[in-house]
Amino acid sequence: GPALYLNAVERRYRQGDNTLEILRGAELGCWLGQSIALIAPSGAGKSTFLHIAGLLEHPDGGEVYVDGQPTSSLSDAARTQIRRTEMGFVYQAHHLLPEFSAVENVMLPQMIRGLSRSESHRRSAELLTYLGLKARLDHRPSELSGGEQQRVAIARAVANAPRILLADEPTGNLDPHTADHVFDTLNQLVRASGLAAIIATHNLDLARRMDRRVTIREGVVVELD
Ligand code: ADP
Ligand code: ADP
Repeated sequence: GPALYLNAVERRYRQGDNTLEILRGAELGCWLGQSIALIAPSGAGKSTFLHIAGLLEHPDGGEVYVDGQPTSSLSDAARTQIRRTEMGFVYQAHHLLPEFSAVENVMLPQMIRGLSRSESHRRSAELLTYLGLKARLDHRPSELSGGEQQRVAIARAVANAPRILLADEPTGNLDPHTADHVFDTLNQLVRASGLAAIIATHNLDLARRMDRRVTIREGVVVELD
């Protein structure tokens, strides 16, 4: 079955006397090795969808299955554990820790999981080298270009070898040329690692390079071309 499966997901927000129905029965399955582009106008519910898929938020209805296991009745601790071990996240802003070097930023999630300093350093250096950052290991985020910062953020997201990658406009802050390059790197990593990936983007050219394209229309997921 799919590594990640959202079934009949509902989410509504109160706005004064009104209720905004953002998701009304959204369904999407993502298999290992599959990359899905989520393309929709601002306000359609992409971030809401990704937060629910990433177990950051509970839906008002429906269920999120990770590796076939329903997650809604799990404790917060168990959900956090799934997020840490099974999922990687990339955002529009890189959220790297400014006082730490590139390699240290990638080491941190591994050390939190109990890997030794030397082992996590070895693995992080290897991953950053794979992403073309061999000469940037000891640079702080402020010493890196936007594209390099985002590649470090991608390395950090996959540092613990997750099976699922969720990204919310990962190239949204980058100029078109850099966005292109970072997106290719991300896509290559997704394929090489056999991840199940859902990536929200506004860029249709980039979305064409992924396996599937979907949108959110009137609260449900609709397959494109
Ligand atoms: P997208 O990522 O596609 O731009 P979002 O999921 O961020 O869309 O938001 C969808 C809609 O839900 C927007 O109209 C937004 O204002 C509203 N919304 C998002 N989060 C909240 C919240 N916590 N409370 C109220 N409304 C929200
Ligand atoms: P923007 O895309 O406007 O730059 P961010 O990239 O800062 O916004 O964050 C996108 C969304 O991801 C926000 O809704 C934020 O709450 C959420 N987010 C950011 N960092 C984390 C984190 N470390 N853990 C969980 N959620 C996060």
